[in-house]
Amino acid sequence: MIEVRELSKRYGRATAVDNLSFTVRPGAVTGFLGPNGAGKSTTMRIVLGLDAPDTGEALVGGRRYATLRRPMSEVGALLDANAVHGGRSAYDHLLSLALTNGIGPARVREVLEQVGLSDVARKRAGKFSLGMKQRLGLAATLLGDPAVLLLDEPVNGLDPDGVRWIRELLRSLAADGRTVLVSSHLMSEMALTADRLIVIGRGRLIADTSVRELEARF
Ligand code: ADP
Ligand code: ADP
Repeated sequence: MIEVRELSKRYGRATAVDNLSFTVRPGAVTGFLGPNGAGKSTTMRIVLGLDAPDTGEALVGGRRYATLRRPMSEVGALLDANAVHGGRSAYDHLLSLALTNGIGPARVREVLEQVGLSDVARKRAGKFSLGMKQRLGLAATLLGDPAVLLLDEPVNGLDPDGVRWIRELLRSLAADGRTVLVSSHLMSEMALTADRLIVIGRGRLIADTSVRELEARF
């Protein structure tokens, strides 16, 4: 479970997150919807302990994360797939991540298979397309088999087959009882992917609803 309580964050004069509160429960895909600049990434970074809020707090499983003290088995995050650079292969990239977290090579091969990158595992990840980088980022997210997953715009750069594939994967992860928060700036995408929706604009909560309830009102 993820709990965001009265969270606020400013960057200079710009308010990124403005007294935001919501809860993300396990067992469903929760969409985090809002236009670009709404504050989705900032909120996710604070939840992960990568940034500190000005006021309020964010808890994962009742705990507040500080940077680098976040076990891979508890939470996995896909923040910016474009951040993959350099000459290392997809396999080496995942393996070094795995080894520093006490995870072995067998699990690396397993997640590469799961995201459909087995055939290109020895290729330089820095040269991957954005869609392939998203798959690699997802593999890293899945490495520790985490109970909580945060994915920031994971469908960016994916082709329609990739989008459908990610949708199914998120559904099965949630159906297994995991907590899944996935952000997007596209209502059409979220309507197809999410069971619940948290909608924000200018850092503030606009709606917190189930997709079915929302559709029933149309
Ligand atoms: P979203 O993920 O919904 O696109 P962000 O959380 O990235 O939104 O950004 C929210 C607001 O905060 C935007 O106005 C953005 O420009 C600003 N912002 C985010 N990160 C920083 C930063 N490190 N420094 C300055 N402004 C930032
Ligand atoms: P520290 O090692 O002091 O915890 P951090 O950079 O992790 O360093 O945090 C800086 C400040 O932000 C601390 O006061 C910390 O309690 C707070 N903080 C960090 N993450 C969160 C969070 N998710 N929710 C609320 N406060 C947080």
